[in-house]
Amino acid sequence: MQIHKHEVIIVGAGGAGLMAALYASKNGADVAVVSKLYPTRSHTGAAQGGIGAALGNLDEDQPIYHAYDTVKGGDYLADQNAALVLAEGAVEAVIELEHMGLPFDRTPDGKISQRRFGGHTRAFGKELVRRACHAADRTGHMILQTLYQNCIKQNVNFFDEFQVVDLILRDGAAVGVVAVQLATGDFHIFHGKAIIFASGGWGRCWSVTSNAHSMTGDGAAIALRRGIPMEDMEFFQFHPTGIYKMGILITEGVRGEGGVLINNKGERFMERYAPSVKDLASRDVVSRAIYDEIKAGNGIKGKDYVYLDVRPETVNRYFAEEGRKERIDAATVEKKLPDILDFCRTYLGIDPVREPMPIQPTAHYAMGGIPTNVDAEVLADAAGTVVRGLYAAGETACVSVHGANRLGTNSLVDLIVFGRISGIKAAQYVKTAEWQELPADAGKEIQAEFKRIRASKGKTKPYELRKAMQHTMMDNVGVYRTDATISKAIEDLKELRHRFLTDISIDDQGNRFNTDLMEAWELGCLLDLATVTALSARNRTESRGAHSRDDYPQRDDANWMVHTFIHQEGSAQEPSYRIDTSRKVDTSLAEKDERFVAKKRVY
Ligand SMILES: Cc1cc2nc3c(=O)[nH]c(=O)nc-3n(C[C@H](O)[C@H](O)[C@H](O)COP(=O)(O)OP(=O)(O)OC[C@H]3O[C@@H](n4cnc5c(N)ncnc54)[C@H](O)[C@@H]3O)c2cc1C
Repeated sequence: MQIHKHEVIIVGAGGAGLMAALYASKNGADVAVVSKLYPTRSHTGAAQGGIGAALGNLDEDQPIYHAYDTVKGGDYLADQNAALVLAEGAVEAVIELEHMGLPFDRTPDGKISQRRFGGHTRAFGKELVRRACHAADRTGHMILQTLYQNCIKQNVNFFDEFQVVDLILRDGAAVGVVAVQLATGDFHIFHGKAIIFASGGWGRCWSVTSNAHSMTGDGAAIALRRGIPMEDMEFFQFHPTGIYKMGILITEGVRGEGGVLINNKGERFMERYAPSVKDLASRDVVSRAIYDEIKAGNGIKGKDYVYLDVRPETVNRYFAEEGRKERIDAATVEKKLPDILDFCRTYLGIDPVREPMPIQPTAHYAMGGIPTNVDAEVLADAAGTVVRGLYAAGETACVSVHGANRLGTNSLVDLIVFGRISGIKAAQYVKTAEWQELPADAGKEIQAEFKRIRASKGKTKPYELRKAMQHTMMDNVGVYRTDATISKAIEDLKELRHRFLTDISIDDQGNRFNTDLMEAWELGCLLDLATVTALSARNRTESRGAHSRDDYPQRDDANWMVHTFIHQEGSAQEPSYRIDTSRKVDTSLAEKDERFVAKKRVY
């Protein structure tokens, strides 16, 4: 096995990984970025709507308002110390991105333009604020290109199309990762003093999702198998507006520009669910409202979708009704939402300037993940013990800054703010840490697992299992869940795992770009993450943020202002699980300011 030695090894080249790479390298570390995708193909490039920062360019705004919205949006499960780091770091981070060359849209007087986004308000919920900085509806694309260029300038080492399949620990400290070079099928070891996981989310556990095919949660699953707990897995966000059946995302920016949700009676139904901010309530609230409308028979043509309407005549009618002065026309929509119009015209044959778009909620974002503290150090347990040399940032991590529900635009902020922190902290760590030797058997176990998958002669193709998993998760651990539905999913997943271990086969026996083999391995990751998601969901007997239990419809602050830590133990063949809910939510802002104390969330 070829061994590569670099001080800091970063798994993933999305926004979080590239930001970490840039800062680890600027702080003097020798850095390698290992990525299964070519960096600019990472999912960050699909982010459309914007990155939130209290710049106050168009409306009066302050970071403390942003922190308040983040805590409230997270249904009071967000750690408040982390929310403050995020909100304060956002302002500097956006200005820094601008200085790196990111082409943000401008106001007429040359400042960075900002738009409204769900749940973002000023003066502690007083009114919506324009906070989302954007480059048309391609903000993530621009962030990724800008960061990649800057990493190249900084001479970061890139190992593109290397898929990490295992983490190497020695005496409890991280010392490397094992990867498959996709072009050859060869195994490589990346030996480091510090490892940063920035490997993104796992929306592919569900059948309707906005996430790219590559979002299979590899990094989180690898960590879980090596004894690292997962935090708050029961909180997975369903974005209200995915294209019907396809799940492709229609950015919240459409509603930020004035678009409204309409049922089969032609009603703007969000007026009933969130009287003050209506269509721009937080995502969990809007997704539930859509489900409730469908359940009440108000889906379009009696089916399970509603309309998102951004036709200028509709938008202007509601602007006038609300006494707002602004008006839009077709040219504004074309200019502000070019990619959305393009998707709809291409994939749906629908022109949003003239027709409403059919939408339904789509699995979108993992609030939970690898637990870290605000220094991006990975935690080994609920008591906060740090795993030496191991860091995580971005969607795969749980800081926890998004709590039970992430606000739109806050993921991009999270990548930039905590990606940077992870890079800086890892660079500081490697300055004093000694090189540890690799264990003699490094990589052996995972090679054996790949051999098993390749040689299996079962009757089931991995895609059949994947489909069954995605459907049971969508039906049973979706927007609404109960003990009975979750238990059904847990049983299904057990059975699917059994078949994965005993009855699969793959067709491709080659070495070059064997996607058949890699997808089979990824399926194992998805099954592990789906299982801990369902177990964590069954354990939390309350409704909070994205976790809505029909059998426990109320939020229960007396018992549940705590994080879920789930550990996988036992063997890969017969895993067992342990849940620990002893870690309390950080309420440091509430201790000083009554406005941060948990209260009923109304929008
Ligand atoms: C369609 C869409 C629109 C969105 N719009 C917005 C928005 O407007 N604003 C906002 O704030 N958020 C938005 N989000 C969410 C946000 O884009 C993501 O949460 C964020 O980009 C994740 O970034 P990341 O760096 O953590 O991971 P990603 O960008 O997903 O990158 C993951 C990286 O990890 C690598 N990787 C994964 N597994 C392995 C492995 N086994 N080995 C090696 N490398 C691996 C991949 O190659 C990739 O480089 C959107 C998400 C989607 C899906």
